[in-house]
Amino acid sequence: MHLSHYPRLHFAHLPTPLEPLPRLSEELGGPNLWIKRDDCTGLSSGGNKTRKLEFLMADALEQSSDTIITQGATQSNHARQTCAIAARLGLECHILLEDRTGYHDEAYAHNGNVLLDQLHGASISIRPGDSDMNAEMDQLAQKLRDDGKKPYIIPGGGSNEIGALGYVNAAFELTHQANERSLRIDHLVHATGSAGTQAGLVLGMEAMNSRIPIYGVSVRADKHKQEENVYGLVQRTAEFMGYSPDLVAREKVVANSDYVGPGYGLPTDAMVEAVKMMACYEGILLDPVYAGKGFSGLIDLVRQGHFKKGQNVVFLHTGGSVSLFAYPNIFDLPGYQ
Ligand SMILES: *Cc1c(COP(=O)(O)O)cnc(C)c1O
Repeated sequence: MHLSHYPRLHFAHLPTPLEPLPRLSEELGGPNLWIKRDDCTGLSSGGNKTRKLEFLMADALEQSSDTIITQGATQSNHARQTCAIAARLGLECHILLEDRTGYHDEAYAHNGNVLLDQLHGASISIRPGDSDMNAEMDQLAQKLRDDGKKPYIIPGGGSNEIGALGYVNAAFELTHQANERSLRIDHLVHATGSAGTQAGLVLGMEAMNSRIPIYGVSVRADKHKQEENVYGLVQRTAEFMGYSPDLVAREKVVANSDYVGPGYGLPTDAMVEAVKMMACYEGILLDPVYAGKGFSGLIDLVRQGHFKKGQNVVFLHTGGSVSLFAYPNIFDLPGYQ
């Protein structure tokens, strides 16, 4: 597998560090925990979308686009990172933000990612929850074309077969890091949403025969729907890369939706505990929407004995800590009630 066959821009800070979590491992008393720092990829405070955008933005430039359109929830990390790279490349950027949580307080509506979207000079418009966001993007693209622009649409989360290449590459990177230090990785756990991260990882690991199982903690869809979404993208990406769509067996795609709580972007007690533990034991910031829920799943699975003592479990930190500032009241901290 040779990723240089695909157009790519290089702006991510790679390789991201792979670090032990000694104090958390000791506190939880289970497996050895590690963290892969994809919150440190660069691009407006980092996150997992940077890797996808290296391939997506290269494709946009190949098509001579001058305007980028994408969509996400109000506090979308993907939208923020897209605004940042569009600014750097001198492209116009339009983002559509879906009101998925129904939160309209000052911090949620204007701080965190929304503040940064605006700093990067993007134009933002809001859509009600449950809008058909793909249709909304198509409509906007038509309007921009009528105005003489050449828009390029990036799907929500950057999750298509081009964006997923970023995580095929991350699978190589992590396996190489593990090999260099003779670290046997028994499990890789991460938050899964629009599916591109998990699809790329599963495909990359399979193509290399890494035998590192990927465990997705869903932040939105139920287990069945999430696994189907991821598997569909694994098949499309495999085909895009010239493999049989059946390269990866369906059972290699594993998602757990027990940690979503009341819904996407809505806090859970376990997430609050996970964010606080990571901050207090390791000095690392998670986020309330993705990595916090993902890590809350990992903590619970360790407590249940799902991961065993002596095993090495890596948590992929997918970024998003900027959105802590959109949820200042959920942590029961003095001054924020
Ligand atoms: C988008 C995102 C995810 C989920 O990645 P997908 O590729 O959409 O599944 C996880 N964590 C953070 C912080 C994100 O912004």
